Amino acid sequence: MECDVLVIGCGAAGLSAASYAARAGYSVIAIDSLAPGGQMLYIDEIENYPGQGTTSGYALAESFEKQAAAFGARIEFWGAKSIGKEGERFIVETTDGTVTAKAVIYAAGARHRHLGCQGEEEYQGKGVSYCATCDGPFFKGRRIAVVGGGDTALTDALYLSRLASEVHIIHRRSEFRGQKALQDRVIAKENIILHMERNAVSINGDGRNVKSVTLSDGSELECDAVFIFVGIVPNSELLDGMARLEGGFVWTDDHMMTSVPGLFAAGDVRTTPFRQVVTAASDGATAAHAADSYIQNM
Ligand SMILES: Cc1cc2nc3c(=O)[nH]c(=O)nc-3n(C[C@H](O)[C@H](O)[C@H](O)COP(=O)(O)OP(=O)(O)OC[C@H]3O[C@@H](n4cnc5c(N)ncnc54)[C@H](O)[C@@H]3O)c2cc1C
Repeated sequence: MECDVLVIGCGAAGLSAASYAARAGYSVIAIDSLAPGGQMLYIDEIENYPGQGTTSGYALAESFEKQAAAFGARIEFWGAKSIGKEGERFIVETTDGTVTAKAVIYAAGARHRHLGCQGEEEYQGKGVSYCATCDGPFFKGRRIAVVGGGDTALTDALYLSRLASEVHIIHRRSEFRGQKALQDRVIAKENIILHMERNAVSINGDGRNVKSVTLSDGSELECDAVFIFVGIVPNSELLDGMARLEGGFVWTDDHMMTSVPGLFAAGDVRTTPFRQVVTAASDGATAAHAADSYIQNM
């Protein structure tokens, strides 16, 4: 199979890239090993995608997919297994055969590291969250637990402390790993309470909502939500050894071009300070626009 632009990953970044590239007149194949929509499919309610009001992640994903298909992108349930370049052509092995493309947009996303404690999976979307910007506003005036001690945990605890009545940070070590300036701000904040050298052992609730967290010292912390910030893992394995990675994330320039000419990356998988639907969609548009210039100059 041959196409101008192959998009790997059909989340917000990939579907946005597929829309822009197909609308610009290119033959586009967009593949996803699971289902088009990516992480959007896990968003119960999204209220910060511009112009949409409050909607479900599923509905938003469906509209992204329909739009890309309407512009002529071919969307397939295939997984990419390897990526190589021969001369000016990319050769991508997929679960359904080989695809040859002039440009590749890699938008394979990322996943949040889980704690693995009891109740974490059961209460995901019912109080357990991995994104303060996404879900913090749903817990205004409530008690929130934050698990983690790095920059993200501290920054997001400060953000949540502006919304919540109390923020309880649970950290397994005696010191935070986050920047000193952030630590000072966290310590100075009156409604942030620290629980150092403790782990979250289980997240408890009534089946519908989170009610408390049991800590490793046996104490029970009452709360309405648990925000877990123990790391994010990019799905960048296919580019390992091929393109420049930074901390596992795919490095790009401002045009979403990786260190390999013609190979672009977009969305959560790349080095970016903010991982949201809107930023992923924006990356996808930029990558498709840059792929257009690249193909024109081949
Ligand atoms: C529970 C939850 C709630 C969230 N809430 C919000 C919110 O309220 N507002 C907001 O803006 N953002 C929210 N986010 C974050 C937002 O969903 C993500 O930042 C955004 O969707 C990332 O899009 P992406 O396209 O970069 O990656 P993803 O959505 O991760 O898509 C990547 C796709 O690539 C596919 N893929 C991976 N490897 C391969 C391969 N080898 N071959 C083929 N396909 C592959 C995957 O199956 C996946 O479908 C939330 C995230 C979660 C998990």
